[in-house]
Amino acid sequence: MADLRRLAGALRQHGGEVREAGPGDVVDGVPATAVARPTSAEGVVAVLREATAQGLATVPRGAGTALDWGAPPERADLILDTTGLDRLVEHGAGDLVVVAEAGLPVASLLETVRGAAQELVVDLPPDRLAGGSTVGGLLSTGASGPRRLQRGGVRDLVLGATVVLPDGTRASSGGKVVKNVAGYDLAKLLTGAYGTLGIVVRAAFRLHPARPDRAFVVGSGPLADVAAWARDVVASQLAPAAVEIDRPAGSDVAEVAVLLEGTGDAVGQRAEAAAGLVGGRVQAEPPRWWAALPGVSTGSTSGGVETGGATLAKATATLTGVAGLLTAARAAEQRYDVGIALRGTAAGVLHAAVTGTPEATALAVGHLRAAAPSPREGTVTVLRASREVRAALDAWGPVGGLDLMRAIKRQLDPGRNLAPGRFVGGI
Ligand SMILES: Cc1cc2nc3c(=O)[nH]c(=O)nc-3n(C[C@H](O)[C@H](O)[C@H](O)COP(=O)(O)OP(=O)(O)OC[C@H]3O[C@@H](n4cnc5c(N)ncnc54)[C@H](O)[C@@H]3O)c2cc1C
Repeated sequence: MADLRRLAGALRQHGGEVREAGPGDVVDGVPATAVARPTSAEGVVAVLREATAQGLATVPRGAGTALDWGAPPERADLILDTTGLDRLVEHGAGDLVVVAEAGLPVASLLETVRGAAQELVVDLPPDRLAGGSTVGGLLSTGASGPRRLQRGGVRDLVLGATVVLPDGTRASSGGKVVKNVAGYDLAKLLTGAYGTLGIVVRAAFRLHPARPDRAFVVGSGPLADVAAWARDVVASQLAPAAVEIDRPAGSDVAEVAVLLEGTGDAVGQRAEAAAGLVGGRVQAEPPRWWAALPGVSTGSTSGGVETGGATLAKATATLTGVAGLLTAARAAEQRYDVGIALRGTAAGVLHAAVTGTPEATALAVGHLRAAAPSPREGTVTVLRASREVRAALDAWGPVGGLDLMRAIKRQLDPGRNLAPGRFVGGI
């Protein structure tokens, strides 16, 4: 049980507040007892050190939109709310670098850098931006959008991070200079770690110049054709910024959407050439489903529950393995009476929304996993699921390097004080 008086005492000289948890302070079904909202990195150090001394399990929270991703933590005594750390520390427009505190909404960051015609290419959909998704949450979920194809994922875009470990140690890695690769690359380690290794207080990201002109090409057809067209565009000289595939649940047909970016007439010419490859039409606007997760209503501004109970999974494949994944989804639907909506980049990072009974969902996830010849060539990990579904399946599937991951956890969080049990292998 958290000793609120001592937690508040630790924060006193640094600003911020500590309060008893309310009905909304729940982490994927696990109620917290206290919430601390520091307003500086020093405050995070002080309150986390005190929480660990009390033996508490601490779970970081940004806007709280993806708190139900990853396994539910074994305990969540203290929620460490990062929204008080909301400063944009530095925008080095000349260096194409931005440094921000972890609780800064991604929307604010994007607005600032837009002033210099630059962008952080993470493609969060509008409802995520409106929901206040934070820099720390973005890094810790490690999710990626359409332009991952050309610009890389969050792990490629993050240059450095400052993190507070459970004993109050502050560690930094990388920096705001692209070439600085000295030391242990904590920033990459923390990407997608769901807050299990440390509390990110600040991160530096690589920016890209915003390209003034863009065109979309959209085509549709049978699953195998769409996969082949998408592959052709990726392998072409057209340098697409993104090639996305969308297959609605229950469908033998999928859509492919290609994004071309650049300056002037060349964009239109490349778009016409891409339209030839996918048998599609050129349009100015993205398709309605662009950058949204499958099954998610694009108009929603609520938290992470919009898929109406669907199990959300991330499915990866090789470029040539995407066709097999699409046909495996169709086969699993017919065999197990489930619905599987698949959407994501043709380069092989897709999301799947699976609807069905827990048992059928478990069988369908197993079927999707079997579509890849080996875990090196494709994985399916469950991001969000009900307790019943989690009980029926192995959310992570076969994972390599578990011993190494456990060793890192022991090194950074030996007492298992940060979101215990949230990550693969009980980390
Ligand atoms: C194209 C695209 C589409 C997406 N669509 C959706 C969507 O539809 N729904 C959705 O929920 N997400 C979606 N995401 C993921 C999205 O990035 C996250 O929802 C969002 O960024 C989380 O921000 P948050 O502040 O709400 O995080 P929170 O929900 O507060 O936290 C998310 C996780 O990060 C941890 N965490 C938060 N802050 C820190 C910190 N400072 N240090 C360490 N750990 C921390 C938390 O403990 C938790 O495990 C999408 C991402 C992309 C790129």
